Amino acid sequence: MAEDVYDVVVIGAGPGGYVCAIRAAQLGLDVACVEKSETLGGTCLNVGCIPSKALLHASEELAHAKKGLAKHGVKVEGVSLDLDAMMAHKDGIVGQLTKGIGMLLDKNDVEHLQGTGRIAGTGQVVVTDASGTKKTITAKNIVIATGSSPASIPGIEIDEDRIVSSTGALALKAVPEHLVVIGGGYIGLELGSVWGRLGAKVTVVEFLDRITPGMDGEVALQFQKLLKRQKMKFKLSTKVTGAEITNAGLNLTTEPVDGGDAATLEADVVLVAVGRRPHTDGLGLSEAGINTTDHGFVSVDEHLETNIKGVYAIGDVVPGPMLAHKAEEEGVAVAERIAGGEPHVNYNTIPGVVYTAPEVAAVGKTEEQLQEEGIEYKVGKFPFMANGRAKAMSSVDGFVKILACAKTDKVLGVHIIGQDAGTLIAEAVLAMEFGGSAEDIARTCHAHPTLNEVVKEAALAVAGRAIHM
Ligand code: FAD
Ligand code: NAD
Repeated sequence: MAEDVYDVVVIGAGPGGYVCAIRAAQLGLDVACVEKSETLGGTCLNVGCIPSKALLHASEELAHAKKGLAKHGVKVEGVSLDLDAMMAHKDGIVGQLTKGIGMLLDKNDVEHLQGTGRIAGTGQVVVTDASGTKKTITAKNIVIATGSSPASIPGIEIDEDRIVSSTGALALKAVPEHLVVIGGGYIGLELGSVWGRLGAKVTVVEFLDRITPGMDGEVALQFQKLLKRQKMKFKLSTKVTGAEITNAGLNLTTEPVDGGDAATLEADVVLVAVGRRPHTDGLGLSEAGINTTDHGFVSVDEHLETNIKGVYAIGDVVPGPMLAHKAEEEGVAVAERIAGGEPHVNYNTIPGVVYTAPEVAAVGKTEEQLQEEGIEYKVGKFPFMANGRAKAMSSVDGFVKILACAKTDKVLGVHIIGQDAGTLIAEAVLAMEFGGSAEDIARTCHAHPTLNEVVKEAALAVAGRAIHM
């Protein structure tokens, strides 16, 4: 094959893009992956999943050492925070992993082109490097994997100093006295938890009358209760209408969503966590005639192909949950389709996890969705409180809830709030992927004593026969 002509050119090296590139190369295709950042791995590795989990873990260790160990008979004295060391640990992990992606691309013979990609017509991508030098490459197939960036709201300008997005909140130089978080979703609750554990007072201002929209309502209520116990404050049904920077910090103006008097909220730092928007600036979509949705996402069909043949889009830049593992699944599916396969992504079995303490994890339908869709269902619930391992760990908050079809017993949704929920959800995902029933989970032998037994008991509870309750 002539130089600079590729079977596949992937634009963006986040979890969608780099996984797509590697899978396509595994299938024998000539692949280039264009990335504008100096580091690979996208939002996930640089300013998303990995750094946030590093800080969540480290801050949980601190909280545990301060408050959780004594009751286990472990005495620790003089526990204190070294924020610089914590940040250095986080940065070290990010550095290792982002370099690792470069090695994976090399190992799989994927050409890594550093520069900004723009679609310049059928099968043409122009790559502009940091010095402004342009190079045109030819692609039989193009995959748009350009991800997303933080959204803001009118009247609030993110400066990544006092008013930060998640990126700034992952790198604060000091623990704020009062952190106000706008948005009670994934980012707000995870990063609010980090800074709360490190000593900040945290107030979450949420537009809706509940946190984590889309999550099963019963779980969301329990979640908010547990976060309140950790001293997180909530102002629900409230909107922020403006921010004024003062010598002392910031004054935020808030208003009840349903009308009423405005109020002022003082803060040292404000985290804006109201969602993310697809990143398509400068990609040349309209010149190339590629359709987008009203909200600026790239429009794709069920095979993730745009209206232009041979141009695909995956990950955060297309509609759907903005999750790294969803982007990866789509990356694999597109690579396999380009190589002539018939893959599919099962969007009903994509788990979502909030990595707070306790964690919250879900897959499939919520009770509200089943009611809305008129599907008859049975509920099996089991609390961590009744599990021996959870008691031994002093991690007894929360429950597993399994929703199964009333007629067939097929598992339709699983919702977990509790210790290690993000790991426990995997067996529910697998059961659902295999079209399993609650009885299938209930009849599966689970090791004792493990937290997984809570999942088994919840499955037994679907048929009203939990043993330990
Ligand atoms: P991205 O990861 O955004 O990658 C897109 C890449 O494309 C970037 O590297 C960008 O520089 C590059 N790019 C953009 N335009 C161009 C161009 N024109 N030319 C060349 N390159 C370009 N998800 C989870 O599943 N679990 C989590 O725990 C989790 N935690 C998160 C925590 C935070 C704080 C944030 C912000 C997000 C988190 N997410 C999490 C979401 C997750 O990071 C994203 O869903 C995921 O990164 C999307 O992958 P992607 O490949 O679509 O896009
Ligand atoms: P989100 O969609 O999870 O939550 C945004 C919240 O902000 C919602 O509750 C929404 O009602 C609220 N909101 C919107 N406008 C508002 C306003 N004007 N005032 C007050 N509240 C307002 O978005 P996010 O937390 O910014 O996260 C972005 C994406 O990143 C998520 O979609 C998520 O998929 C991904 N993410 C995932 C993880 C994870 O998997 N653990 C972690 C972090 C981020």
